[in-house]
Amino acid sequence: MCEFCTQHGEGKKWYLNVKNYATELLNDPKRRYMIKNFYKEVVEKGNNSITRLEMTFQRNPKLLERIKEPYIKEMKSMHFGQVVPLEDIIQILSICNTTVRLPCGCRWAFNKQEARVCFGISFGLSGWYDDLDIDYFGLPDVAQFDRMDKEQVIEIIKKLDNQGMIHSIWTFQTPFIGAICNCELKSCLAMRSTVGLQMPIMFKAEELAEIDAEKCTGCQECSHVCQFNAIEYSEIDNKSQINAMNCFGCGVCRGFCPEEAIYLVERRTYPVASSF
Ligand code: SF4
Ligand code: SF4
Ligand code: SF4
Repeated sequence: MCEFCTQHGEGKKWYLNVKNYATELLNDPKRRYMIKNFYKEVVEKGNNSITRLEMTFQRNPKLLERIKEPYIKEMKSMHFGQVVPLEDIIQILSICNTTVRLPCGCRWAFNKQEARVCFGISFGLSGWYDDLDIDYFGLPDVAQFDRMDKEQVIEIIKKLDNQGMIHSIWTFQTPFIGAICNCELKSCLAMRSTVGLQMPIMFKAEELAEIDAEKCTGCQECSHVCQFNAIEYSEIDNKSQINAMNCFGCGVCRGFCPEEAIYLVERRTYPVASSF
């Protein structure tokens, strides 16, 4: 179990605890302010600051160690995520009451591409997206959020899984969970920070992958789709295997294995494989 499960899970995975979706949490003015200004202030500034950090760390790698801890601490309290495999995403949707499809803020900030692959979720009959006048980069024409039923959302996320997208959940002032995201490394601010800069703003999933060596034929379909560089191929025995340190447990590789050789196990069975 990750740190958030211990703090906010009440004995289960924290993202399956309905309290972390409660509408009452929206009474917090700090949270409301953050949500209202999220796209304009957090996403756009985040894109600029990660681009700056990418250039700075190339020149001065030592700076990373100095700023890493305070940065992670701030993000944990403000906007932090976790990779979640498809079956748990479906469980999350089963406890939510309303869902809307949103334009992906990272992709918009990255290259002004509008991609509707994020989902606002709420346990209440109205969501955080209903009564706040959210400033979506000041562009009213992209601000219409598509209200959808859960079955529609599940079908869309299954398709994104088949395209190799990583699923994750996100807080607005932790522990309030407000969104499900479907991301790829090149455009996702969180993945660029977590994987590219080694400044994690998302936990790994509560699971990680294993490969059944008996079934593996060494075709390497799985390693082509893994966005975390967590699958290693050995020419010696013509088999692939998981690097437990790198695996984020997204589970996406499973759908690409023609032999159904990949499965998820609990992360805690691998003491070496940390949540970050
Ligand atoms: S976390 Fe992923 S889906 Fe969410 S806004 Fe960023 S790239 Fe888009
Ligand atoms: S090896 Fe791990 S990180 Fe890579 S796709 Fe599979 S589950 Fe995801
Ligand atoms: S896709 Fe399956 S069979 Fe192919 S290398 Fe990966 S685990 Fe082995």
